Amino acid sequence: MVFLLGSSEQSIIPVVPVREGMIFPFTENLLVFGRQKSITAINEALNRDKKIVILMQKNPSINDPRKEDLYQIGVLALIEKTVIGEKGEINALIKGLEKVRVTEFIKESPFFEVKVEKIVDEISSDEEVEAMVKHISMQIKKAINLGKAVDFVFLMNILNIVSPQNFSYQIAMVLDLKESEKQKLLEETNLKKRLMKEVEYINREVKILEIEQNISAKTQKKFEQGMKETFLKEKMKTIEEELGGGEDREIKEMTNKIKKAKMPKDVEEKALKELKRLSKMSQFNPEASYIKTYLDWLTDLPWSVSSPNNVDIKQAEKILNEDHFGLKKIKERILEYLAVMELRKRKEKNQEKKPNQKKEYQPTILCFVGPPGVGKTSIGKSIARALNRKFIKISLGGIRDEAEIRGHRRTYVGALPGRIIQGIKQAGTNNPVFMLDEIDKVGRDYRGDPSAALLEALDPEQNHAFSDHYLEVNFDLSNVFFITTANILDTIPDALLDRLEVIRFPGYTEDEKFNIAKNYLIKKQLLAHSLSPNEARITDEALKIIIRRYTREAGVRELERQIATLFRKIAREIIENKNKSKTIGVSDVPKYLGPYIYSAQIIEEKDKIGIVTGLAWTQAGGDILFIEVAVMPGKGHLTLTGHLGDVMKESCQAALSYIRSRWQIFGLKTNFFNNLDIHVHVPEGAVPKDGPSAGIAITTAMVSALTKKPVRREVGMTGEITLRGRVLEIGGVKEKIIAAHRAGIKTVILPADNKKDLEDIPKYVLKDLRFVFVKHMDEVLKVAIPTFLKKIA
Ligand code: ADP
Repeated sequence: MVFLLGSSEQSIIPVVPVREGMIFPFTENLLVFGRQKSITAINEALNRDKKIVILMQKNPSINDPRKEDLYQIGVLALIEKTVIGEKGEINALIKGLEKVRVTEFIKESPFFEVKVEKIVDEISSDEEVEAMVKHISMQIKKAINLGKAVDFVFLMNILNIVSPQNFSYQIAMVLDLKESEKQKLLEETNLKKRLMKEVEYINREVKILEIEQNISAKTQKKFEQGMKETFLKEKMKTIEEELGGGEDREIKEMTNKIKKAKMPKDVEEKALKELKRLSKMSQFNPEASYIKTYLDWLTDLPWSVSSPNNVDIKQAEKILNEDHFGLKKIKERILEYLAVMELRKRKEKNQEKKPNQKKEYQPTILCFVGPPGVGKTSIGKSIARALNRKFIKISLGGIRDEAEIRGHRRTYVGALPGRIIQGIKQAGTNNPVFMLDEIDKVGRDYRGDPSAALLEALDPEQNHAFSDHYLEVNFDLSNVFFITTANILDTIPDALLDRLEVIRFPGYTEDEKFNIAKNYLIKKQLLAHSLSPNEARITDEALKIIIRRYTREAGVRELERQIATLFRKIAREIIENKNKSKTIGVSDVPKYLGPYIYSAQIIEEKDKIGIVTGLAWTQAGGDILFIEVAVMPGKGHLTLTGHLGDVMKESCQAALSYIRSRWQIFGLKTNFFNNLDIHVHVPEGAVPKDGPSAGIAITTAMVSALTKKPVRREVGMTGEITLRGRVLEIGGVKEKIIAAHRAGIKTVILPADNKKDLEDIPKYVLKDLRFVFVKHMDEVLKVAIPTFLKKIA
C-alpha cells in the first residue's frame, strides 16, 4: 500500500546513493560517505531538517551514478550525528525512518534531490508470523553460536522484539545478504512474505555456517594432524640423532660379532672392510641392508665351531647296529672307513699342521648307491650319531645351475650363498656329516655345470679353500664328512665318480623287510602315532601280506607308509571309542588298507614255446620279466617291441647271429631265416628296458621258438651273451635272485663269474634255489630246454 507523504513532507529531499550498507526503517547504522556528491548532499541535509533519502546503487562499482543507476525504493533517514574524517569523509550515524519510493528526481547535480512517497507495509499478526519470528530468532542465536558476528545493538533490538515489522527490519540488517537481496527485502511490503524470505535466508546462513564449522573442524583436525606430524618428525629427528648413536652401537655389536666368529685372518679383514663401508653409509641406502645380510652370513658361519672329533669304533658299531637291521657288509665298510679316518687323524696330529695346508692323503667320499628306501639316509644319520657330529642333508635332484652349489655373486639382487654353505650354516659346525642326496640327478645346462662346483666342494685337494660366489672368501670344508647318495651310478660324471667310494645298498629280501618292519618300522610308527605296543599290533602273517601285496619296492619306504596308514586308522578308532586296542590279522589288512595292490608275480603255469623267464634289475629292486619270441613266415625280418633300449636291441641281434651261426646244432635249415620273420617282445610294453643281461634269455626264447621246443618254466636266467655264445658277468645279482625266489623260480642260471655274488644272499633264499653257473650258451640250453640235452652233448 502506498501513501503519499504529507505536504510538509512533499518537500524535496537530498539523496545519498550507497553502494552497500543499506539501512532499513527502525534501524540505526554508522555509514561513511566519501564521494563529493554524497558529502554535499549530507551537508545540505544538515542545513535543512537532517533528512536524507538513501538509495541503493544497482551496480556498486559505478562511482558517479546517474538516476537510472539507483533503485527507486529507498529509506528516508535521519542523520543523527556526523563526524568529519581525516580525509574529509563524513562518518554519519543514520537512522532509518520510513520506506519511500522516489516519485520524481528534481536534480542530479551537485547532488540528487528527489520527491518521495511513503510506502506502508501490509502487516498481519498471526501464528504464522509469530512462529516465523520465533524461528528466525532461534536461528539467529544458533548462527551466533556457530560464529556469526552480530553487532551488540542489533542483537539487543532483535531480542527485544518490539513488533514483527520492526523485527523483520532489524533482521534484514544482520543477515548476510547480497545487496540486491537486501533491496528485495526492503521492497517487499508484505510483512509475512518478508519474514518468509528471511526464514529462507537465515536457514541458508545457518546451514552454511554449519558446513563452515564442519570444514573448519576438519581443517582443525588436519591442522592438528599436521602439527602432530611435525611433532613426530621432530621426534624422529631426535630419534635419528639418537640412532646415529644407535648405529654406532650396531657397528660396535657387529665388530664384536666378527671378532667372536674367530674367522681366518683374511676373512676377518674382509668383514671389517665391509663393516667400514657400512658405517659410512646412510642407513637409508639400500646397499646397507645387503652389506648387513652379508656380514650376518659371514659371522654366522661356524668358522671355528666344530664337534669333538673322536671316533670310537666300538661305539660306532653299537650305534649302527642299534639303528639298522642287517646291512652287515655295509656296516663293516663304514666302520673300516671310520677306522682309517681316525688313524689318519692321529698321524696328522703328530705332524705340525699349517693353516689351510693341503692334506697329503686323498680320502675318498662315501657314495651310497641303491634304490630308494633302503636306508641310505638313515645310515648317514647313524654315522653322524656315532661320530657325535651334526647331520645335514641337501638334495641335489634337479639342480642345473652352478650357482645353486656355489651361490650367486653379490651383485645379484637377492643373492645368497649356495647350498653347501647354507648347509654348513644350518649345521652350525664346520665338521658335520653332510649328505648330498641324489648326486646322480644333477643336471647341467647353459647356467654352468653344477657337478664341477660339487667336485670342488668334495675334492679333498681343493675343498680346504672352497669358494662360494656370495661369500667371496674361502671356507674350509676339509673337516666335513661328505656322504653322497645315488640310485644309479651311470649318470654320475666320471670325474666325480672317481672321487667316490661306492657302497651299494642292494635292497632287501622279503625276510629282511619283515625283520626291519618288526624290529624298527613298527616301533618307529607306534611312537609317531602316540600308540603303545599294546594298543596296536600286527600279526606276523598280516605283516607278510602287507609286504607282499601292498608294496613292490627294494626298500621299505612304502612298507613304512602302509604301517603308518594302519596305525593312523587304529588311532582314530581308539579316539572314537570303537576300540581300546587292535591286533591286525590277515583278514583285517584289506579292511584297513583296501584291496590288494599287487598280485604276486609268478611264473607261467606250463612250459611254453618261445617264452623265457628273465631276471631283471630295476631302480626299485629286482624283478622277473618274460621274453616272448614268435616266429612266422616272412622275409628275414627281426622285429623288436616292448620299449627296448639300444643295448637290449643289440642283444637281440647278437642272439640271432649266434643262432644263425650254429644252425646245424639247432637242427635248422641252412637259410632258415630267409623265409621267416622273428618277433621279440618283452612285456610290459610301456616300461623301458635296457641292458645286456637279458642276452641268454633272448637267445633261449629264440631257440625255443625256432625249434618249437618248450622252455622249462621254473628256470630263471640272466647273463650277457657274445656272438660266439660265451656268457658274461652281469650286475644286480642279489636283487635278481630275491625277485626270482619271490616269483617261485626253482632254478637260476647265472654267469659263472657271478658265483661270488651269492655271498650276499640270505641262506633261506639260497636253500630254496638251485644255481647253475654257466660259461657258454650251450649250458644254458641244456638246462632250459632239456630236449636239447642229448643234441648238444
Ligand atoms: P633312502 O635314504 O635309502 O631312500 P631311508 O634312509 O630314508 O632310505 O630309509 C627309509 C626308512 O626305512 C627309514 O625310516 C629307515 O629308518 C628305514 N630303514 C631302511 N633300512 C633299514 C634297516 N636296515 N633297518 C632299520 N630301518 C631301516
